[in-house]
Amino acid sequence: MRICLVASEAVPLAKTGGLADVVGALTFHLTRAGHDARLILPFYSGIEAPAGGLAPVEQVQEVELEMGARVLRFSLLRWAGEDDRQTIYLLDCPELYHRDSIYSADPDEPLRFAFLCRAALESCQRLEWSPQVFHCHDWHAALLPVYLAASGRSWPLLGASRTLLTLHNIAYQGVFEEKWLDSMGLGGGTGFPAEASYASGYVNLLAAGIATADLLSTVSPTYAEEIQTPELGMGLDGILQRRRRELFGILNGVDYDIWDPRVDPLIPFNYTPTDLSGKAKNKSALLSDLGLPLAPDLPLAGVVTRLVEQKGLDLLVDVLPRALEQKKLHLVALGSGEERYVRFLRSLELRFPQAARYRNGYDEELAHRIEAASDLFLMPSHFEPCGLNQMYSLRYGTPPLVRATGGLADSVQPFDAPTGSGTGFVFESFTPEAFSAVFDQALETWSNRATWHRLIANGMAKDFSWKTQVGEYEVLYRFLATTGALSM
Ligand code: ADP
Repeated sequence: MRICLVASEAVPLAKTGGLADVVGALTFHLTRAGHDARLILPFYSGIEAPAGGLAPVEQVQEVELEMGARVLRFSLLRWAGEDDRQTIYLLDCPELYHRDSIYSADPDEPLRFAFLCRAALESCQRLEWSPQVFHCHDWHAALLPVYLAASGRSWPLLGASRTLLTLHNIAYQGVFEEKWLDSMGLGGGTGFPAEASYASGYVNLLAAGIATADLLSTVSPTYAEEIQTPELGMGLDGILQRRRRELFGILNGVDYDIWDPRVDPLIPFNYTPTDLSGKAKNKSALLSDLGLPLAPDLPLAGVVTRLVEQKGLDLLVDVLPRALEQKKLHLVALGSGEERYVRFLRSLELRFPQAARYRNGYDEELAHRIEAASDLFLMPSHFEPCGLNQMYSLRYGTPPLVRATGGLADSVQPFDAPTGSGTGFVFESFTPEAFSAVFDQALETWSNRATWHRLIANGMAKDFSWKTQVGEYEVLYRFLATTGALSM
């Protein structure tokens, strides 16, 4: 099949979070499965010419596109991927994409990503390539279905193309002042859906995509249900309920070429489920590198996360200081984000210099080392569309402690000591008491080595590889390609 993926980030070129992991892996695995899958991504100034180099795409050079009153010029470059078999197109428009970071707080942020959508359509037409499916990701690509529906005639080759919009996290919706519609070429009743325009004078780009795309998906079955409720729908529950028959939940896959302790080049000692000696050495090495005392009888808890409220950090604020005071564990945390959480983690390090370490920033290698060295991974998210770290943790023999929400509920089964079944520790209600209870259960289980090894073995045997997950997307693509749009 011919599938055009459109997104704001993808590994290995541009990443701020899990979205990049998913888009990069999906493109790679679709190509590996024999599809003509091509990804279109902005050419941010931070992207360094990757191995293999970038080649200008002849048919798409110095193209002028009218966006409201402005004319913007862009060119396309192609990167063939690390395996020389992929196609990632980088959309070069310095005026929009040469900024300090992938996302900006600049006033023209909506224009930057509206342009990505329109230029993606224009590029396919000029390449004389007609994807059967445009697979759009998050609000940054949510206007593509809108443009296609509103002005499909501009791109005659794309008349039969259908759209799938994947919602990776509906907390980010792309809400901007209505005045931006004109500069996006969508003003004056030219097809922007009324239900995505609010009386307050704002427009919601994600809602526009949800209203218009042929099919919708999100990144776990449980999250697909949760976002239809007022509690987790973030104001979109009504429109998502209306479209529930076209909404599917597909759990993200894990790239085990990158995240597997058997082969991971970023950890000092590789290990396997049958020989965990390397895991113990990784723990000693990390503790020693971070200046923490070696205490094999104390479990090491790991945290790797964006520091935002969604991740349940308030529960850590409530529970961790006492646990550290009682010398129940060691803690290593990595993450950047909101200042209040940075301050909290710094304060732990200052208060408990013999037990806690915090690194502020983004550090791929340290993230791998924490997964490999820790005994327990803490992820008590308030909500979690899918979450990747809990799945990485399972593979690294680091049982995750999670709240039963979204993809965490779909990927971690509560451990039951009497039967020896389950892969981690799971609590339901978002309260310090519920978190504490399961945290204590985890520490108690840790003290019984045989039981703990059973738990580790259960988790390491789980397989969330992309091979399976790609198959679920293929079902949706095939449906779109053969049946066309579902009746709405
Ligand atoms: P989200 O996309 O909401 O941030 P996910 O669990 O889906 O959460 O994905 C997070 C990804 O980003 C993982 O690959 C994780 O290892 C990585 N990550 C998050 N924060 C950091 C950090 N400070 N340093 C390195 N990697 C990080």
